[in-house]
Amino acid sequence: MPKTVEMTCLDCGERAPFAPMQLACAHCGSEWLEARYDYAAVVTRFAAPDSGAHLRRNPGLWRYHELLPLRDLAHAVTLGEGNTPLIPLPNLGLMLGCANLFVKDERQNPSGSFKDRQAALAVSVMKEADIREAVVASTGNVAISYAAYGARAGIKVYAFLTSLVPPEKMRECALYGAQVIKVTTTYDRSKELAQAFARQRGMYYDRGLRSIASVESMKTLAYEIAEQLARLNPDGSASWRAPDWYVQSISGGLGPVGAMKGFRELQTMGLIDRLPRLACIQVEGCAPMVTAYRRDSETPDVVVSPRTHIGTLATGNPGRAYRILRNYLQQHGGTMESVSDEETFRAMHVMAKIEGLSMEPGAAAAFAGLFKLVRHGLIHPDETVVINCTGHTFPVESEVLGDGWAQELGEAQLAQPEPEGVLAALQRLDARVRSIAIIDDTPDTVRLLRRILQARGNYDIHEAEDGRAGLALIRERRPDLVILDLMMPEVDGFAVLDALRADEATRDIPVIVVTAKALTPEERARLDGQTSSLLQKGEFTDDELLDDVRKALPE
Ligand SMILES: *Cc1c(COP(=O)(O)O)cnc(C)c1O
Ligand SMILES: [Zn+2]
Repeated sequence: MPKTVEMTCLDCGERAPFAPMQLACAHCGSEWLEARYDYAAVVTRFAAPDSGAHLRRNPGLWRYHELLPLRDLAHAVTLGEGNTPLIPLPNLGLMLGCANLFVKDERQNPSGSFKDRQAALAVSVMKEADIREAVVASTGNVAISYAAYGARAGIKVYAFLTSLVPPEKMRECALYGAQVIKVTTTYDRSKELAQAFARQRGMYYDRGLRSIASVESMKTLAYEIAEQLARLNPDGSASWRAPDWYVQSISGGLGPVGAMKGFRELQTMGLIDRLPRLACIQVEGCAPMVTAYRRDSETPDVVVSPRTHIGTLATGNPGRAYRILRNYLQQHGGTMESVSDEETFRAMHVMAKIEGLSMEPGAAAAFAGLFKLVRHGLIHPDETVVINCTGHTFPVESEVLGDGWAQELGEAQLAQPEPEGVLAALQRLDARVRSIAIIDDTPDTVRLLRRILQARGNYDIHEAEDGRAGLALIRERRPDLVILDLMMPEVDGFAVLDALRADEATRDIPVIVVTAKALTPEERARLDGQTSSLLQKGEFTDDELLDDVRKALPE
């Protein structure tokens, strides 16, 4: 049954069916669109806690697919994200005098952070919309997650990372095959650059809080927590339950904005009877929300130059996220608190040494914040508190990758005032990238070739599914290399070769033939001298293909 997902404009209320590439309200132009569902219909199928249908489903994020903006579950790109455990913290509880502390252990997601929820859904939605390239700007973990899920889905990821991102994280992205672009600037500026780059190329750009899939993914945190707490109900009932507090370290604020939407939806559906209080924890060196909240400002105190070692949390301008979170705090309670880098590092030691939880500093800030809120008496000893342990790091050792896994944009390029300066620099970096046209009418072969080329090199790949479209593509794009199938309807590979060789402009483009056909001696003679190499479908290895590609490409 096709589900209805609607986008509602947060500014004027206009409603439209969900479309991943629609970025703004058709009525007022606002970019703030929110997904809405037919909750009454969903609740009958979904989530009655004792309904067998719900519980028999696979655990994890997709368990809640009725409330996610993916039309067909078959398009889900999954690595086993979500369904992270809710683990009691007895030792920390003793230390702080709180009996009901739980960690939502998001380290246990496939790439080690809760950003896997975001990437899993966003990449699945892209796959469903047949989008092949994506751009992200990231303080590290979004890029790693996108790189991993992108690799799995055959989507090329361009990751803009600032110099605050540890090199281990950059290498992790590169290992997954993402194009890493190091920018020597702030995170906020790198977002502008990435967005301009995406706009210029017509690529999908993850706009965080303004990307519906990203917000929707984080709702699953709330669903899982409420369902997991139901298993711990003191009265043995199966009713879903919100905690008294949800505590998270925040940067752009996507996590809590999504999670609080999730709790609200559960309340709308009558599955929980109240909402949690929210604690947003920032680091002192970059606390645009906390300082603004303390002085009751409606807008964040934008931090132009973050002063913290904790790059994961270095969003200096959270924009509208602040307003959304502040509204939530005013309506449902909670607070914003900041912690120093030193307090964060101390919390890292405490959590590792008393509970066996090793986490990255960006996650530990939440615990440093918890210590403060308990000490100040805001969190009471008997309250149920869920702290999101947002991330673990799995560093890729420096020996694993050779040189050239990142492109760098230094001060010199960034100093140029107009955005054209930087985009031009990016284009120059890009000029080294060789382009390859694949002309083949078998989708599986195209997918295989694209995967191999993307996984093992940095190529700009174009595709055409028959000879006629292939010739048009070659004349328009002038690729550095053509990979050509022989058996295609109408204009076949032989005809394409003849046409290429007859045209001055395309005569010298090297061609690799990939064919399923057992060639006759006459056909072999026709190809002789025309192609760089001939590969038999189903018989070549990735190494052989890459060898041939490298040999065929002009220096
Ligand atoms: C992204 C991230 C955060 C901040 O999350 P937001 O909800 O986007 O503010 C915190 N910790 C880790 C480890 C992260 O990767
Ligand atoms: Zn509108």
